[in-house]
Amino acid sequence: MNLLTNAWIPIQHQGKYQKISYQQLLCGDQTGELCFPRDDMELACLQLLCAITQVLFIPKDKKSLGQYVKEPITPEVYADACQGKMDWFDLDHPETPFMQIRGVKATQSTPMDKLLAGVADGTNKAFVNPQGLAEALCGGCVSVALFNAANNCPSMGGGFKGGLRGSTPITTLINGRTLRETIWLNVLTEDAAEFVMPWYQETKDQLPNYLDKIKVDSKIPASAIGLNRGLLWQPAYFELLPSQSSANCSCCGGYEPVYNGFNKAKFSYTIEGVWPHPLSARIFTVKSGERQEKFPSFTTTAPTWTHMSRLVVDQQNDKEGQQTAPVIQQARTFMSADKIQLIIGGYRNKQATVEERRHELFSLAQGWAEHGDLIQQIIIVGLSYKTTLRKALYLFSVGIKDKVNGSGVNLCDPVEAVYYQQTENLMHNSLAIIKFEEAQDELLALNKQLKSIVISLFNQATESYRQEPKMLKALALARRSLHKSFRELEPQGETL
Ligand SMILES: [Zn+2]
Repeated sequence: MNLLTNAWIPIQHQGKYQKISYQQLLCGDQTGELCFPRDDMELACLQLLCAITQVLFIPKDKKSLGQYVKEPITPEVYADACQGKMDWFDLDHPETPFMQIRGVKATQSTPMDKLLAGVADGTNKAFVNPQGLAEALCGGCVSVALFNAANNCPSMGGGFKGGLRGSTPITTLINGRTLRETIWLNVLTEDAAEFVMPWYQETKDQLPNYLDKIKVDSKIPASAIGLNRGLLWQPAYFELLPSQSSANCSCCGGYEPVYNGFNKAKFSYTIEGVWPHPLSARIFTVKSGERQEKFPSFTTTAPTWTHMSRLVVDQQNDKEGQQTAPVIQQARTFMSADKIQLIIGGYRNKQATVEERRHELFSLAQGWAEHGDLIQQIIIVGLSYKTTLRKALYLFSVGIKDKVNGSGVNLCDPVEAVYYQQTENLMHNSLAIIKFEEAQDELLALNKQLKSIVISLFNQATESYRQEPKMLKALALARRSLHKSFRELEPQGETL
């Protein structure tokens, strides 16, 4: 199974499902939407397609990227690009199989479901995964799963290294009008790559680390890892175990040669510094003169819009800062006059356990590239009303020492969850349709809508306590706090 020649990409087009080859996709012979039974596999497949494209076809500059976006490539261009790299993407290569090491010594093999995040150990396993998933995987699905495990998942546990971006990074991609366009929009040009990694030129001929292996216990500066090597980084030793016969793949359902387990082994090394992944934002803080970078991830149940500012707005001061994903920085230079649609996804984990999967679409209105400050204001407004509500409910619960007895009823968390549910569409819409040149009016309207949601949530939450004489003072205190906060949030000189 070679990712450059076999038909392994499951797509759906006008109701018809089929698997197509990467060449058919790039040459424009076939089109459709990716079609996996799991949203995380779909996202990982898209990432893998972008990585392969980045490795095979890095465009020189914006003009040449524009050409790729516009027109499918010819079979000759495709064949040229594959020259010398066929071995990189051969899942069954006798010596250097795709993202694996030959001869991995393991006391026992690991069942295939361990390769799919959250299936083997998720507490909500029955809820997030259809029954029977991951007993055997076909070549395409297992390649996506291997790539996903190496890039997006918590490590395999004790002593196993996680991906270059840490445990469960947020991935950001630009969504195009077709799958082919989406792939190209998430490929960096040489110019952009050199800007993001000044070491790009001198490292561009490096091989992936499953071809040119890392020495055990080595210390590797992030700036010694080239673009191709980083994109296809395999943090652990894996070796797939092919089955002797074909079977139905438990992920895509196809009847094909399958793999029903793998051997794994850990090995240790240290990466010094942070490798700037093209599809991830980075945040940093400066502590005692040293800059510490990391990749944002979903650490709480707060919805994805609450992260939008650090995913799309660049900002920095002496102490901290944030940088958007390099593909978004690149898009700012040629997509600023248009709307942009982003695909944002990642896992939320607790150590090795995946607690939640996210894969969402976000639209940003025309002008997004120049109006980061206003995007940030929208997010701040959305968060401030949540805080206002929490603060009032907290006072209702605890009162003020020696003055007002609290009710002892803590409603903060459940009501916050409802706030997030009820404001989700409003926040998405605000980001998608805001007219930046009339931003002040639009922000005022958003303030009004959020205020009315907060009032109604506060009333609903406290309704059953209004008849409790002992709680009336606490309730009045909470209400005063709410209205005081509203006044502070109102744009100057305006009345909501
Ligand atoms: Zn499959």
